[in-house]
Amino acid sequence: MTAPVRPAPVADADSAGFWEACAREELVGQRCGKCSAWRWPPREHCPRCHAADPVWERLGGTGRIVGFVVVHRVLDPAFADETPLAIVHVELDGTDGEMVLTSQLQPGEWSSAAVGAPVSVRFTRVREGLTLPTFTIQNEPQEAHHVLD
Ligand SMILES: [Zn+2]
Repeated sequence: MTAPVRPAPVADADSAGFWEACAREELVGQRCGKCSAWRWPPREHCPRCHAADPVWERLGGTGRIVGFVVVHRVLDPAFADETPLAIVHVELDGTDGEMVLTSQLQPGEWSSAAVGAPVSVRFTRVREGLTLPTFTIQNEPQEAHHVLD
């Protein structure tokens, strides 16, 4: 029996720049070359001014979870060794709230998923020609909570 193969995103003319950057382990966002509006998902024309001329801007790779779901059942055999896993929506820093990436937390971090949790990108090389941006929870200094009695 052959090992199950993970489904892969299919790059098109608009998203190719994003996936090429992932292969270099860089996270980028598409902006309008005319008015600088963010374009997410990447697209041919600006939603604000309708210009073409997309440009790619390198991002810092940090953000916050704005939504998530934890998958406890193995829905695809290719993910059996990572289940349970957390699928997350990450609002990326530096994008004016316009770029929310759907991704997953690093295997084993599913129980730490929480709305508002700070995360940073980790590139996962699934196989030759497929590198995906995934995220890991950032540890911030915890605020001290004291109960006085
Ligand atoms: Zn524009």
